[in-house]
Amino acid sequence: MALKIPRCVRCFVACELKTLPSVSGEAGSLKLTLLEVPVFACAKNHTVPVHRDFMLWLIQQIRALEAQFAAGREQGMIFKKHLCGECGKELAPKPERRQAFPYELKYEELAPFKLQIEMPLYKCTGCGKEQIRSAGELHGHVAGAVVGINDGAGFPHSG
Ligand SMILES: [Zn+2]
Ligand SMILES: [Zn+2]
Repeated sequence: MALKIPRCVRCFVACELKTLPSVSGEAGSLKLTLLEVPVFACAKNHTVPVHRDFMLWLIQQIRALEAQFAAGREQGMIFKKHLCGECGKELAPKPERRQAFPYELKYEELAPFKLQIEMPLYKCTGCGKEQIRSAGELHGHVAGAVVGINDGAGFPHSG
């Protein structure tokens, strides 16, 4: 696929391919950061994604990574408890620390860039394994954090 170089919707001049050093978005306990992500930008740095489906593509990439996270199981309808995904003992009520997990992504023929998925890790009171509290908590915040990235990058709202 060849990328089509767009015109800036505000200045009507041709954009250039650039990279953003760092842009983050947060939703709930999830923080997503892109490092050196390629974008199109005009001379005044009005930015647009490199493709109109880029943000959707990004969500799909993160969705595909979700299963790699060791996660606890949520129990209870009203009073939620979180149990270790390994041994079933209760997880500590407060997170041990936050950790950013780095990944490399590549969109079409563009240079690769970095994605960091940052979540709080909870320690199991039984086996000591660190894990995110629940897979649903990560899953449920992905779209919201990507909206934060969209806004942080200065992209127009679309899609
Ligand atoms: Zn412009
Ligand atoms: Zn455990």
